[in-house]
Amino acid sequence: MYDFAYHKPTSVADAVKLLADPDAKAISGGQTLIPALKHRLNKPTAVVDLSGIAEMKGIKREGNTIVIGALTRHGEVATSAEVKSAIPSLAMMAANIGDTQVRNRGTMGGSVANNDPAADYPAAVLALKATVRTSKREIPADEFFQGMFTTALEPDEILTAIAFPIPEKAGYEKMRNPASRYVMAGVFVAKTGGEIRVAVNGAGPCVFRQADMEAALAANWSADAVDGVKQDPDGLNGDIHGSAEYRAHLVTVMAKRAVKAAG
Ligand SMILES: Cc1cc2nc3c(=O)[nH]c(=O)nc-3n(C[C@H](O)[C@H](O)[C@H](O)COP(=O)(O)OP(=O)(O)OC[C@H]3O[C@@H](n4cnc5c(N)ncnc54)[C@H](O)[C@@H]3O)c2cc1C
Repeated sequence: MYDFAYHKPTSVADAVKLLADPDAKAISGGQTLIPALKHRLNKPTAVVDLSGIAEMKGIKREGNTIVIGALTRHGEVATSAEVKSAIPSLAMMAANIGDTQVRNRGTMGGSVANNDPAADYPAAVLALKATVRTSKREIPADEFFQGMFTTALEPDEILTAIAFPIPEKAGYEKMRNPASRYVMAGVFVAKTGGEIRVAVNGAGPCVFRQADMEAALAANWSADAVDGVKQDPDGLNGDIHGSAEYRAHLVTVMAKRAVKAAG
């Protein structure tokens, strides 16, 4: 039996009050939380549905930044004219998340707050040096992702939007698990304000920056520059879908493809 109270606040302030209960859980698109509830992996006493909060929706440009509301669905990011023109690699990333149903329900805020090691968006947030806006503060990408399914968010803190600086160049490539379509290994490369950042997802327990590739690309922005840079398999994920060594190999392959995609 499911046994929880259901709330649907219309403001961030009201949602924060409801989440002060340590056994309450926020829900956005439900694409991760509902399966977790079905498997009884999570048993909240209250579910706080954020989908009625208008201030957490929409995509807008603020100077040289694209600000995406946390409730923006993957399908909206994929088809947004603003995102496609300013950060096409981000729109492309969104277009390749899961399947049509997942893209029509899942949200950017839910994905980034969940920080699944195999999620796509964390790589874009980290490589693009985005800022995570919450009900309390602004958190730089480098401080946000803290480990597997772990972020800097406090239990009653709501992710409200993400601000992405517009890059000069950016590209993303991933190897998908053919069954789930989750990332086996993905690489997002970006050059923003002259700074080069490379973020790897899927391969390890948490998205991380690849410093050797960043240095190689700073010296020579080309796919050849990362060709010789090997990822250490130590600490990477190994499971029935692929060993740590396989994922390490994929990181170099995906990095080369991402640089080519970035142009
Ligand atoms: C079949 C399938 C395939 C998928 N494939 C991919 C894929 O290829 N790539 C990929 O990246 N993802 C994939 N996903 C995951 C999908 O992108 C989800 O949308 C995402 O993980 C969670 O977003 P959500 O809005 O559904 O969050 P929810 O399920 O509603 O919430 C997830 C977690 O985040 C918390 N939360 C939600 N919103 C907020 C907020 N604004 N502030 C703070 N906490 C919040 C919730 O309390 C919960 O713990 C897949 C999912 C499925 C079911």
